[in-house]
Amino acid sequence: MPEDGLKTDIMRARSVDLVIAEARSLIGDRLTTNESLRAQHSHGEDPQPPSTPDAVAFAETADEVAALLALCNRHSVPVVPFGAGTSLEGHVTPVRGGLSLDLSRMTRILDVHQPDMDCRVEPGVTRQLLNTHLRDQGLFFPVDPGSECTIGGMCATRASGTNAVRYGTIRENVLGLTVALADGRLIRTGGRVRKSSTGYDLTRLFIGSEGTLGVITEITLRLHGIPEAIAAAAAQFPTLAGAVESVIAVMQAGIPIARIELLDDVQMQASIAYSKLEGLAPLPTLFFELHGTPTAVAEQQATVEEIARSFGAESFAAAADAEARAISGKPATTPTGPRSRSSPAGAASPRTRSCPSPASRKPSSASRKTSPPPASPAPSWAMSATATSTPC
Ligand SMILES: Cc1cc2nc3c(=O)[nH]c(=O)nc-3n(C[C@H](O)[C@H](O)[C@H](O)COP(=O)(O)OP(=O)(O)OC[C@H]3O[C@@H](n4cnc5c(N)ncnc54)[C@H](O)[C@@H]3O)c2cc1C
Repeated sequence: MPEDGLKTDIMRARSVDLVIAEARSLIGDRLTTNESLRAQHSHGEDPQPPSTPDAVAFAETADEVAALLALCNRHSVPVVPFGAGTSLEGHVTPVRGGLSLDLSRMTRILDVHQPDMDCRVEPGVTRQLLNTHLRDQGLFFPVDPGSECTIGGMCATRASGTNAVRYGTIRENVLGLTVALADGRLIRTGGRVRKSSTGYDLTRLFIGSEGTLGVITEITLRLHGIPEAIAAAAAQFPTLAGAVESVIAVMQAGIPIARIELLDDVQMQASIAYSKLEGLAPLPTLFFELHGTPTAVAEQQATVEEIARSFGAESFAAAADAEARAISGKPATTPTGPRSRSSPAGAASPRTRSCPSPASRKPSSASRKTSPPPASPAPSWAMSATATSTPC
């Protein structure tokens, strides 16, 4: 090895040792060099080659994050923030070693402003955790990438999901952030107001910055009312072109569709085989989810069916009860979906049964009047899809 390279390696090793010792004095045994924990933090859900960090730090507060960043900055040791490690693009791989800064223990939901429909959360909170917390208040957080990821990670990757067609991506649902910068300063961006023209829109700068500009330690999120009625439908087409044309026509008709997901014949074949779906053929298929009042949802469904049939849909199966809406979830019916989160086939998720509608914020008699009537049993494709893709 050339002498210069050797010197650099020795200096780097010294810096890392100093950081490890000092970080231990900051967070105790939450700073670890355990081999299996380092291996866990060496990659995301991507096919890139792994690269092991020198240490993993499990931060629990914004001040700890800030102190760890300042420490690494002082010694020029790289830091890679780590949420749940579900990103698919090699984001979390510490290619130059250093510290993997794990935020998954920062899971406090700091406050919920029900009338204003917003909340503040720490970055390790997951969509599922937040929606479980919110459901009694008739609110939900809609951005659903279909993985068990953290909201901090979603911000850093500008995540979206099938609901984005109606509710937007994470970008449209973040009102403000607290961010720890590399030198240990904590800054706030944005706020709870829906509009501000005071200064640069720094919130949007951090959204999608992949952990390179700072570490997000708190997020103010926009929330939405749980719709009174949710319906799901599956339309099957003889050709892929028919399915694609239908999507274009549905969007151009201005139907406020909540989700649309397209699976081609090969994906359908795999999904049917894997999830033992009944009532669906291995044909190009569109899955829809519609949100709104019972009347609006029924109207939307009729228009969507009319459009689908006009582009050759051979079948249009709809289900309007709470369980059935799980149909339009992420292709949780496909082998690539996080199977462990799916309801077993034929079993309705208790979460979908007990979703309060926004009407639950009104007197209970009103709520009863506006709730959709119990529907006939849902088809098997509806029942076996993931329930975690639903708002609550
Ligand atoms: C089955 C599956 C389906 C998916 N479907 C979609 C989809 O439909 N749409 C979509 O957008 N994505 C999708 N994804 C990708 C993935 O879930 C997202 O990238 C997710 O948003 C990352 O969150 P995470 O908590 O896992 O972050 P990680 O993977 O841990 O980190 C991702 C990046 O964010 C940085 N980071 C993490 N936390 C913070 C923080 N607090 N502050 C600053 N930077 C941070 C990391 O350094 C890294 O650069 C899918 C993934 C899987 C496995």
